[in-house]
Amino acid sequence: MTPTPLPPSGRLTVAVASGKGGTGKTLVATNLALMAARGGSPVALVDCDADAPNDALFLPPASPLAEPVEVPLPVIDADACILCGACRDACAYGALRVLGGTVLVFPELCHGCGACVSVCAPRAITEQPRRVGEVEWGRLDVALARPAGGSVVTGRLDVGEVKTPAVIRAARDRATVLRPAVTILDAPPGVACSAVAAVRRADIIVLVTEPTAFGLHDLELAVELAREMGVPVGVVINRDGMGESGVEEYCMSEGVPVLARIPFDRRVAEIYAEGGLVADEHPDGAAWFEQLWDAVKRRALEVTS
Ligand code: SF4
Ligand code: SF4
Repeated sequence: MTPTPLPPSGRLTVAVASGKGGTGKTLVATNLALMAARGGSPVALVDCDADAPNDALFLPPASPLAEPVEVPLPVIDADACILCGACRDACAYGALRVLGGTVLVFPELCHGCGACVSVCAPRAITEQPRRVGEVEWGRLDVALARPAGGSVVTGRLDVGEVKTPAVIRAARDRATVLRPAVTILDAPPGVACSAVAAVRRADIIVLVTEPTAFGLHDLELAVELAREMGVPVGVVINRDGMGESGVEEYCMSEGVPVLARIPFDRRVAEIYAEGGLVADEHPDGAAWFEQLWDAVKRRALEVTS
């Protein structure tokens, strides 16, 4: 079978997401990245699950580099401050309080939007960078990812920090600089703002689900989010055959294509638990993920033509 080409632009950004954790998102993202590289497209696998990134356990980058992710934090000059409260009123996140003759800044609530700086007439507010995480990147193992190769980029939130979207944006920016033909975004689970930051402007979202009642419920939420964002979706049913849940019926009734089914197979779980690549270590793995990669490209062509 002739492999399906990339869209005419020669580039494709695929977000791999799920309505809930534990559905097999990392399994799909890592193996899909490998298929893209082996199919001749330089790839960037971007781990946007910044609270608990683990793509690099399966595809460790060679000679990785890292840079901090920082967000601006307002600093008040008490001598210049006239306690007018304008900064507090301008802050949509409740990160500032005027209390006891001083302005208090709550760093964990601050989104670094700069609104307070712009409304402070006496210019009593400056901004200082505050580290919230890091981005690490490096080349994919050359032997594993030939012929096209690529990179693994990991967004990692510092312990105790909550600015996940900032780390995700930095990881995606780093991947853009690497200029891959294919970008695979491994999104955080759920439908909160961090998931939105990860899937925004993707060409297609691959939603990984499992045939359970919880899987179906969270799939519905994820499809709804993707529709609100105007990004086309396709579904991967992982652990197919483990139960009956109505996932297939839901996809059919909503016109959501099922791109692949990965069977409920003890060996898949064992390979994954050992940090292995199912595409290489399971006798059927390469066929599953080659077919999935082709189905993703076909879906991308459908929606872009
Ligand atoms: S806007 Fe400026 S002057 Fe007014 S309370 Fe805030 S820091 Fe002080
Ligand atoms: S930078 Fe934005 S979020 Fe942070 S304190 Fe100022 S107004 Fe609030």
